[in-house]
Amino acid sequence: MSTATSRVLSRLDQHRPWLEDLYRHLHAHPELSMAEHATSARVIEEIKGMEGAEELEIVTGLATTGVVVVVRNGEGPTVLMRADMDGLPVAEDSGLDYASTVRVQNELGESVPVMHACGHDTHVATLLASLRLLLESRDAWSGTLLVVFQPAEEAENGADAMVADGLVDRLPAPDVALSQHVLPGPAGSVLVASGPIMASCDDFRITLRGKGGHGSAPHTALDPVVMAASLVMRLQTIVSRQTSPAATAVVTVGRMVAGTKTNIIPEQAVLEGTVRTYDADVAAACLAAIERTTRAEAAAWGAPEPKFETFDHLPVTDNDPETTAVVRSALAAELGEDQVRVFHPESGSEDFSSLPNAWGIPYCYWGFGAFEASDWRKREAAGTLAELPDNHSPQFVPVLQPMLDTGVRAMVAATLAWVGVGSGH
Ligand code: ZN
Ligand code: ZN
Repeated sequence: MSTATSRVLSRLDQHRPWLEDLYRHLHAHPELSMAEHATSARVIEEIKGMEGAEELEIVTGLATTGVVVVVRNGEGPTVLMRADMDGLPVAEDSGLDYASTVRVQNELGESVPVMHACGHDTHVATLLASLRLLLESRDAWSGTLLVVFQPAEEAENGADAMVADGLVDRLPAPDVALSQHVLPGPAGSVLVASGPIMASCDDFRITLRGKGGHGSAPHTALDPVVMAASLVMRLQTIVSRQTSPAATAVVTVGRMVAGTKTNIIPEQAVLEGTVRTYDADVAAACLAAIERTTRAEAAAWGAPEPKFETFDHLPVTDNDPETTAVVRSALAAELGEDQVRVFHPESGSEDFSSLPNAWGIPYCYWGFGAFEASDWRKREAAGTLAELPDNHSPQFVPVLQPMLDTGVRAMVAATLAWVGVGSGH
Protein backbone atom coordinates (compact mmCIF):
# COMPACT_ATOMS: atom_id res chain seq x y z
CA MET A 1 0.00 0.00 0.00
CA SER A 2 1.40 3.38 -0.90
CA THR A 3 1.84 5.78 1.96
CA ALA A 4 -0.27 8.41 0.18
CA THR A 5 -3.22 6.00 0.00
CA SER A 6 -2.96 4.90 3.63
CA ARG A 7 -2.66 8.52 4.77
CA VAL A 8 -5.74 9.63 2.84
CA LEU A 9 -7.77 6.58 3.91
CA SER A 10 -6.75 6.86 7.56
CA ARG A 11 -9.86 8.95 8.28
CA LEU A 12 -12.28 6.51 6.66
CA ASP A 13 -13.09 4.89 10.05
CA GLN A 14 -13.99 8.27 11.48
CA HIS A 15 -16.24 9.20 8.52
CA ARG A 16 -17.93 5.80 8.08
CA PRO A 17 -21.14 6.76 10.00
CA TRP A 18 -21.48 9.90 7.84
CA LEU A 19 -20.87 7.87 4.66
CA GLU A 20 -23.48 5.25 5.59
CA ASP A 21 -26.09 7.86 6.58
CA LEU A 22 -25.47 9.77 3.38
CA TYR A 23 -25.87 6.60 1.33
CA ARG A 24 -29.10 5.61 3.11
CA HIS A 25 -30.48 9.12 2.54
CA LEU A 26 -29.65 9.01 -1.18
CA HIS A 27 -31.09 5.50 -1.46
CA ALA A 28 -34.40 6.59 0.09
CA HIS A 29 -34.62 9.70 -2.15
CA PRO A 30 -33.97 8.59 -5.74
CA GLU A 31 -34.74 10.87 -8.69
CA LEU A 32 -35.28 10.14 -12.38
CA SER A 33 -32.84 11.08 -15.15
CA MET A 34 -32.39 14.84 -15.67
CA ALA A 35 -34.51 15.46 -12.55
CA GLU A 36 -31.70 14.93 -10.00
CA HIS A 37 -32.40 18.32 -8.36
CA ALA A 38 -32.39 17.28 -4.70
CA THR A 39 -29.44 14.93 -5.25
CA SER A 40 -27.48 17.68 -6.94
CA ALA A 41 -28.37 20.14 -4.15
CA ARG A 42 -27.28 17.61 -1.51
CA VAL A 43 -23.99 17.04 -3.35
CA ILE A 44 -23.30 20.79 -3.34
CA GLU A 45 -24.32 21.11 0.32
CA GLU A 46 -22.00 18.26 1.33
CA ILE A 47 -19.10 19.73 -0.63
CA LYS A 48 -19.61 23.18 0.90
CA GLY A 49 -19.26 21.60 4.34
CA MET A 50 -15.92 19.96 3.54
CA GLU A 51 -12.50 21.10 4.70
CA GLY A 52 -11.12 23.91 2.51
CA ALA A 53 -14.39 24.20 0.58
CA GLU A 54 -13.94 27.96 0.17
CA GLU A 55 -10.99 27.32 -2.19
CA LEU A 56 -12.94 24.95 -4.43
CA GLU A 57 -14.38 25.87 -7.79
CA ILE A 58 -17.87 24.37 -8.03
CA VAL A 59 -19.18 24.36 -11.60
CA THR A 60 -22.94 23.89 -11.92
CA GLY A 61 -25.40 24.11 -14.79
CA LEU A 62 -23.70 21.49 -16.95
CA ALA A 63 -26.67 19.40 -18.14
CA THR A 64 -29.01 21.13 -15.63
CA THR A 65 -28.25 19.08 -12.51
CA GLY A 66 -24.61 18.20 -13.24
CA VAL A 67 -21.98 19.30 -10.72
CA VAL A 68 -18.21 19.43 -11.20
CA VAL A 69 -15.81 20.33 -8.40
CA VAL A 70 -12.35 21.49 -9.40
CA VAL A 71 -9.73 20.88 -6.71
CA ARG A 72 -6.40 22.56 -7.43
CA ASN A 73 -3.65 21.26 -5.20
CA GLY A 74 -0.30 22.10 -6.69
CA GLU A 75 1.67 20.70 -9.61
CA GLY A 76 0.85 17.36 -11.12
CA PRO A 77 -1.59 15.46 -13.32
CA THR A 78 -5.28 16.26 -13.62
CA VAL A 79 -7.62 13.36 -12.84
CA LEU A 80 -11.33 13.26 -13.68
CA MET A 81 -13.38 11.15 -11.20
CA ARG A 82 -16.99 10.54 -12.16
CA ALA A 83 -20.22 9.32 -10.54
CA ASP A 84 -23.67 9.15 -12.13
CA MET A 85 -26.65 10.24 -10.02
CA ASP A 86 -29.96 9.04 -11.49
CA GLY A 87 -32.46 6.42 -10.36
CA LEU A 88 -34.95 4.36 -12.38
CA PRO A 89 -38.75 3.98 -12.64
CA VAL A 90 -38.75 0.75 -10.63
CA ALA A 91 -40.84 -0.08 -7.52
CA GLU A 92 -38.37 -1.11 -4.82
CA ASP A 93 -39.02 -4.53 -3.30
CA SER A 94 -36.15 -4.90 -0.86
CA GLY A 95 -37.81 -4.88 2.58
CA LEU A 96 -35.11 -2.50 3.86
CA ASP A 97 -35.98 0.18 6.37
CA TYR A 98 -34.37 2.75 4.05
CA ALA A 99 -36.18 1.47 0.92
CA SER A 100 -37.52 4.08 -1.47
CA THR A 101 -41.26 4.75 -1.47
CA VAL A 102 -40.89 7.68 -3.87
CA ARG A 103 -43.38 8.17 -6.69
CA VAL A 104 -43.19 11.00 -9.19
CA GLN A 105 -44.82 12.08 -12.41
CA ASN A 106 -42.76 11.12 -15.43
CA GLU A 107 -42.48 13.26 -18.57
CA LEU A 108 -45.77 11.77 -19.87
CA GLY A 109 -47.57 12.84 -16.68
CA GLU A 110 -47.92 9.27 -15.40
CA SER A 111 -47.24 8.43 -11.74
CA VAL A 112 -44.22 6.11 -11.54
CA PRO A 113 -42.22 4.61 -8.68
CA VAL A 114 -38.54 5.57 -8.40
CA MET A 115 -35.68 3.44 -7.07
CA HIS A 116 -31.90 3.51 -7.13
CA ALA A 117 -32.12 0.13 -8.86
CA CYS A 118 -28.78 0.56 -10.63
CA GLY A 119 -26.91 1.60 -7.47
CA HIS A 120 -25.93 5.10 -8.61
CA ASP A 121 -26.55 6.19 -5.00
CA THR A 122 -23.45 4.17 -4.06
CA HIS A 123 -21.48 6.05 -6.73
CA VAL A 124 -22.50 9.48 -5.40
CA ALA A 125 -21.83 8.53 -1.77
CA THR A 126 -18.43 6.92 -2.41
CA LEU A 127 -17.27 9.77 -4.67
CA LEU A 128 -18.28 12.39 -2.07
CA ALA A 129 -16.44 10.40 0.59
CA SER A 130 -13.35 10.09 -1.64
CA LEU A 131 -13.40 13.85 -2.20
CA ARG A 132 -13.78 14.53 1.52
CA LEU A 133 -10.84 12.29 2.41
CA LEU A 134 -8.64 13.77 -0.32
CA LEU A 135 -9.48 17.31 0.85
CA GLU A 136 -8.54 16.43 4.42
CA SER A 137 -5.14 15.05 3.40
CA ARG A 138 -3.99 17.57 0.81
CA ASP A 139 -0.34 17.02 1.74
CA ALA A 140 -0.55 13.40 0.55
CA TRP A 141 -1.14 14.36 -3.07
CA SER A 142 -0.36 16.99 -5.67
CA GLY A 143 -2.29 17.80 -8.83
CA THR A 144 -5.81 18.73 -9.91
CA LEU A 145 -9.04 16.79 -9.51
CA LEU A 146 -12.21 17.20 -11.56
CA VAL A 147 -14.89 15.52 -9.48
CA VAL A 148 -17.90 14.99 -11.75
CA PHE A 149 -21.47 14.24 -10.61
CA GLN A 150 -23.26 13.40 -13.85
CA PRO A 151 -27.01 13.29 -14.45
CA ALA A 152 -29.04 10.96 -16.67
CA GLU A 153 -26.79 7.97 -17.34
CA GLU A 154 -29.90 5.81 -17.61
CA ALA A 155 -31.40 8.11 -20.23
CA GLU A 156 -28.15 7.66 -22.19
CA ASN A 157 -27.77 11.41 -22.67
CA GLY A 158 -26.34 12.90 -19.45
CA ALA A 159 -22.67 12.77 -20.40
CA ASP A 160 -23.39 14.10 -23.89
CA ALA A 161 -25.47 16.91 -22.37
CA MET A 162 -22.55 17.92 -20.12
CA VAL A 163 -20.29 18.00 -23.16
CA ALA A 164 -22.87 20.04 -25.12
CA ASP A 165 -23.06 22.52 -22.22
CA GLY A 166 -19.37 23.36 -22.51
CA LEU A 167 -17.61 20.79 -20.31
CA VAL A 168 -14.39 21.02 -22.33
CA ASP A 169 -14.33 24.84 -22.43
CA ARG A 170 -15.25 25.37 -18.79
CA LEU A 171 -12.82 22.92 -17.18
CA PRO A 172 -9.09 22.24 -17.24
CA ALA A 173 -8.21 19.30 -19.51
CA PRO A 174 -7.73 16.08 -17.52
CA ASP A 175 -4.96 13.56 -18.24
CA VAL A 176 -7.03 10.55 -17.31
CA ALA A 177 -10.64 9.72 -16.36
CA LEU A 178 -11.85 7.19 -13.77
CA SER A 179 -15.29 5.82 -12.96
CA GLN A 180 -16.73 2.77 -11.21
CA HIS A 181 -20.05 0.89 -11.01
CA VAL A 182 -21.53 -1.30 -8.30
CA LEU A 183 -22.25 -4.69 -9.90
CA PRO A 184 -23.21 -8.23 -8.94
CA GLY A 185 -20.09 -9.61 -7.27
CA PRO A 186 -18.77 -10.22 -3.76
CA ALA A 187 -18.65 -7.04 -1.67
CA GLY A 188 -15.03 -6.18 -0.94
CA SER A 189 -13.91 -7.10 -4.44
CA VAL A 190 -13.46 -5.09 -7.63
CA LEU A 191 -13.88 -6.14 -11.27
CA VAL A 192 -11.27 -4.88 -13.71
CA ALA A 193 -10.42 -5.55 -17.36
CA SER A 194 -8.57 -3.86 -20.16
CA GLY A 195 -10.10 -3.20 -23.60
CA PRO A 196 -13.79 -3.15 -24.57
CA ILE A 197 -15.89 -4.03 -21.50
CA MET A 198 -19.28 -2.55 -22.29
CA ALA A 199 -21.00 -2.52 -25.65
CA SER A 200 -21.87 0.37 -27.90
CA CYS A 201 -25.57 1.00 -28.31
CA ASP A 202 -27.34 2.30 -31.41
CA ASP A 203 -31.11 2.50 -31.32
CA PHE A 204 -33.08 2.57 -34.58
CA ARG A 205 -36.66 3.18 -35.73
CA ILE A 206 -38.17 1.82 -38.95
CA THR A 207 -41.46 3.11 -40.36
CA LEU A 208 -42.87 0.74 -42.98
CA ARG A 209 -45.51 2.30 -45.19
CA GLY A 210 -48.24 0.18 -46.75
CA LYS A 211 -51.74 0.87 -47.97
CA GLY A 212 -54.65 0.53 -45.59
CA GLY A 213 -57.78 -1.46 -46.37
CA HIS A 214 -60.31 -4.04 -45.21
CA GLY A 215 -58.94 -7.08 -43.43
CA SER A 216 -61.18 -9.31 -45.54
CA ALA A 217 -59.66 -8.04 -48.81
CA PRO A 218 -55.86 -7.96 -48.38
CA HIS A 219 -55.32 -8.07 -52.16
CA THR A 220 -56.66 -4.51 -52.41
CA ALA A 221 -54.28 -3.26 -49.70
CA LEU A 222 -50.54 -3.40 -48.97
CA ASP A 223 -50.16 -5.02 -45.59
CA PRO A 224 -47.41 -3.42 -43.44
CA VAL A 225 -48.02 -5.98 -40.64
CA VAL A 226 -46.90 -8.89 -42.81
CA MET A 227 -44.06 -6.74 -44.14
CA ALA A 228 -42.96 -6.01 -40.55
CA ALA A 229 -43.18 -9.67 -39.51
CA SER A 230 -41.04 -10.72 -42.45
CA LEU A 231 -38.53 -7.91 -41.80
CA VAL A 232 -38.07 -8.82 -38.12
CA MET A 233 -37.11 -12.37 -39.10
CA ARG A 234 -34.74 -11.16 -41.82
CA LEU A 235 -33.01 -8.75 -39.41
CA GLN A 236 -32.19 -11.71 -37.19
CA THR A 237 -30.02 -13.17 -39.95
CA ILE A 238 -27.67 -10.14 -40.01
CA VAL A 239 -25.67 -11.31 -37.00
CA SER A 240 -25.69 -14.99 -37.98
CA ARG A 241 -24.93 -14.49 -41.72
CA GLN A 242 -23.26 -11.10 -42.21
CA THR A 243 -21.05 -10.28 -39.22
CA SER A 244 -17.90 -12.24 -38.52
CA PRO A 245 -18.21 -15.12 -36.04
CA ALA A 246 -15.28 -13.50 -34.23
CA ALA A 247 -17.19 -10.25 -33.72
CA THR A 248 -19.84 -9.81 -31.04
CA ALA A 249 -23.09 -8.18 -32.07
CA VAL A 250 -26.72 -8.15 -31.00
CA VAL A 251 -29.64 -6.91 -33.12
CA THR A 252 -32.91 -6.75 -31.20
CA VAL A 253 -36.29 -5.42 -32.32
CA GLY A 254 -37.88 -4.50 -29.01
CA ARG A 255 -40.98 -2.68 -30.15
CA MET A 256 -43.55 -3.23 -32.94
CA VAL A 257 -46.54 -0.96 -33.34
CA ALA A 258 -49.23 -1.42 -36.02
CA GLY A 259 -52.96 -1.43 -36.41
CA THR A 260 -56.04 -0.62 -34.36
CA LYS A 261 -58.60 -3.39 -35.00
CA THR A 262 -58.85 -6.99 -36.19
CA ASN A 263 -60.40 -6.23 -39.56
CA ILE A 264 -58.40 -3.20 -40.63
CA ILE A 265 -55.15 -3.41 -42.56
CA PRO A 266 -53.24 -0.39 -41.25
CA GLU A 267 -51.34 2.22 -43.25
CA GLN A 268 -48.03 1.70 -41.49
CA ALA A 269 -46.00 -0.33 -39.02
CA VAL A 270 -43.25 1.00 -36.76
CA LEU A 271 -40.37 -1.13 -35.47
CA GLU A 272 -37.83 0.03 -32.90
CA GLY A 273 -34.73 -1.81 -31.87
CA THR A 274 -31.15 -1.69 -30.71
CA VAL A 275 -27.70 -2.75 -31.95
CA ARG A 276 -24.97 -3.66 -29.42
CA THR A 277 -21.35 -4.33 -30.38
CA TYR A 278 -17.80 -3.84 -29.09
CA ASP A 279 -16.49 -2.29 -32.30
CA ALA A 280 -17.63 0.87 -34.11
CA ASP A 281 -17.09 -0.75 -37.56
CA VAL A 282 -19.27 -3.72 -36.64
CA ALA A 283 -21.98 -1.36 -35.38
CA ALA A 284 -21.84 0.65 -38.61
CA ALA A 285 -22.03 -2.55 -40.70
CA CYS A 286 -25.07 -3.78 -38.73
CA LEU A 287 -26.88 -0.45 -39.10
CA ALA A 288 -26.13 -0.38 -42.84
CA ALA A 289 -27.43 -3.96 -43.18
CA ILE A 290 -30.61 -3.10 -41.27
CA GLU A 291 -31.30 -0.11 -43.49
CA ARG A 292 -30.51 -2.05 -46.70
CA THR A 293 -32.72 -5.00 -45.66
CA THR A 294 -35.54 -2.62 -44.72
CA ARG A 295 -35.46 -0.88 -48.11
CA ALA A 296 -35.26 -4.23 -49.94
CA GLU A 297 -38.20 -5.62 -47.95
CA ALA A 298 -40.35 -2.63 -48.91
CA ALA A 299 -39.21 -2.87 -52.52
CA ALA A 300 -40.12 -6.57 -52.61
CA TRP A 301 -43.69 -5.61 -51.75
CA GLY A 302 -43.82 -2.66 -54.12
CA ALA A 303 -44.41 -0.48 -51.06
CA PRO A 304 -43.53 3.21 -50.68
CA GLU A 305 -39.99 4.03 -49.41
CA PRO A 306 -39.75 3.19 -45.72
CA LYS A 307 -38.24 5.61 -43.21
CA PHE A 308 -35.09 4.55 -41.36
CA GLU A 309 -33.82 6.62 -38.40
CA THR A 310 -31.18 6.13 -35.73
CA PHE A 311 -31.23 7.75 -32.29
CA ASP A 312 -29.54 7.33 -28.89
CA HIS A 313 -25.95 6.40 -29.62
CA LEU A 314 -23.62 5.25 -26.84
CA PRO A 315 -19.96 4.55 -27.56
CA VAL A 316 -18.10 1.37 -26.60
CA THR A 317 -16.58 1.55 -23.11
CA ASP A 318 -13.02 0.61 -24.08
CA ASN A 319 -10.56 0.68 -21.18
CA ASP A 320 -7.11 1.95 -22.12
CA PRO A 321 -4.62 -0.89 -21.43
CA GLU A 322 -1.89 1.27 -19.87
CA THR A 323 -4.35 3.21 -17.67
CA THR A 324 -6.06 -0.02 -16.64
CA ALA A 325 -2.74 -1.62 -15.68
CA VAL A 326 -2.03 1.34 -13.36
CA VAL A 327 -5.53 1.19 -11.84
CA ARG A 328 -5.38 -2.57 -11.45
CA SER A 329 -2.10 -2.53 -9.55
CA ALA A 330 -3.32 0.34 -7.31
CA LEU A 331 -6.50 -1.64 -6.50
CA ALA A 332 -4.55 -4.85 -5.88
CA ALA A 333 -2.15 -3.00 -3.57
CA GLU A 334 -5.01 -1.48 -1.57
CA LEU A 335 -7.56 -4.33 -1.51
CA GLY A 336 -5.38 -7.39 -1.99
CA GLU A 337 -4.69 -9.35 -5.18
CA ASP A 338 -7.40 -11.89 -4.31
CA GLN A 339 -10.04 -9.12 -4.33
CA VAL A 340 -9.35 -8.12 -7.94
CA ARG A 341 -11.58 -10.14 -10.24
CA VAL A 342 -11.99 -10.10 -14.01
CA PHE A 343 -14.64 -7.77 -15.46
CA HIS A 344 -16.25 -9.92 -18.13
CA PRO A 345 -17.51 -7.79 -21.04
CA GLU A 346 -21.19 -6.93 -20.84
CA SER A 347 -23.67 -6.24 -23.63
CA GLY A 348 -25.07 -3.41 -21.51
CA SER A 349 -23.98 0.12 -22.37
CA GLU A 350 -22.74 3.10 -20.41
CA ASP A 351 -22.24 6.76 -21.33
CA PHE A 352 -19.21 7.51 -19.12
CA SER A 353 -16.75 7.32 -22.03
CA SER A 354 -18.42 10.32 -23.71
CA LEU A 355 -16.68 12.47 -21.05
CA PRO A 356 -13.06 11.33 -21.67
CA ASN A 357 -13.80 11.06 -25.42
CA ALA A 358 -14.69 14.78 -25.43
CA TRP A 359 -11.03 15.51 -24.57
CA GLY A 360 -9.58 12.43 -26.27
CA ILE A 361 -8.02 11.16 -23.04
CA PRO A 362 -7.59 7.57 -21.78
CA TYR A 363 -9.84 6.13 -19.11
CA CYS A 364 -10.56 3.17 -16.90
CA TYR A 365 -14.02 2.03 -15.76
CA TRP A 366 -14.23 -0.78 -13.22
CA GLY A 367 -16.81 -2.52 -11.06
CA PHE A 368 -17.13 -3.13 -7.33
CA GLY A 369 -19.08 -5.96 -5.74
CA ALA A 370 -22.59 -5.49 -4.35
CA PHE A 371 -23.43 -8.67 -2.46
CA GLU A 372 -22.48 -10.41 0.76
CA ALA A 373 -19.24 -12.24 -0.04
CA SER A 374 -19.79 -15.55 1.75
CA ASP A 375 -23.25 -15.94 0.18
CA TRP A 376 -21.74 -15.09 -3.23
CA ARG A 377 -18.99 -17.70 -2.87
CA LYS A 378 -21.50 -20.35 -1.72
CA ARG A 379 -23.68 -19.61 -4.74
CA GLU A 380 -20.70 -19.52 -7.07
CA ALA A 381 -19.77 -23.03 -5.91
CA ALA A 382 -23.38 -24.24 -6.21
CA GLY A 383 -23.97 -22.60 -9.61
CA THR A 384 -26.89 -20.50 -8.31
CA LEU A 385 -25.52 -16.99 -8.94
CA ALA A 386 -28.29 -16.36 -11.48
CA GLU A 387 -30.79 -16.30 -8.60
CA LEU A 388 -29.26 -13.04 -7.33
CA PRO A 389 -30.88 -9.84 -8.60
CA ASP A 390 -29.11 -7.93 -11.37
CA ASN A 391 -28.87 -4.15 -11.72
CA HIS A 392 -32.32 -2.64 -12.53
CA SER A 393 -34.14 -5.33 -10.55
CA PRO A 394 -36.60 -4.24 -7.77
CA GLN A 395 -34.42 -6.33 -5.40
CA PHE A 396 -31.04 -4.93 -6.47
CA VAL A 397 -29.86 -3.48 -3.18
CA PRO A 398 -26.16 -3.80 -2.38
CA VAL A 399 -25.07 -4.70 1.17
CA LEU A 400 -23.91 -1.62 3.03
CA GLN A 401 -20.50 -2.96 3.98
CA PRO A 402 -17.88 -3.65 2.89
CA MET A 403 -19.46 -2.40 -0.36
CA LEU A 404 -19.28 1.32 0.53
CA ASP A 405 -15.77 1.15 2.02
CA THR A 406 -14.54 -0.72 -1.05
CA GLY A 407 -15.97 1.90 -3.40
CA VAL A 408 -14.15 4.65 -1.48
CA ARG A 409 -10.87 2.74 -1.15
CA ALA A 410 -10.91 1.85 -4.85
CA MET A 411 -11.60 5.39 -6.04
CA VAL A 412 -9.02 6.93 -3.69
CA ALA A 413 -6.32 4.35 -4.51
CA ALA A 414 -6.87 4.67 -8.28
CA THR A 415 -6.80 8.48 -8.14
CA LEU A 416 -3.64 8.56 -6.04
CA ALA A 417 -1.91 6.32 -8.58
CA TRP A 418 -1.70 9.56 -10.60
CA VAL A 419 -1.56 12.34 -8.03
CA GLY A 420 -0.29 10.63 -4.86
CA VAL A 421 2.93 12.04 -3.45
CA GLY A 422 5.54 9.31 -3.98
CA SER A 423 3.19 7.27 -6.16
CA GLY A 424 5.88 7.22 -8.85
CA HIS A 425 3.45 7.34 -11.77
ZN1 ZN B 1 -28.41 1.12 -15.10
ZN1 ZN C 1 -25.85 2.16 -13.80
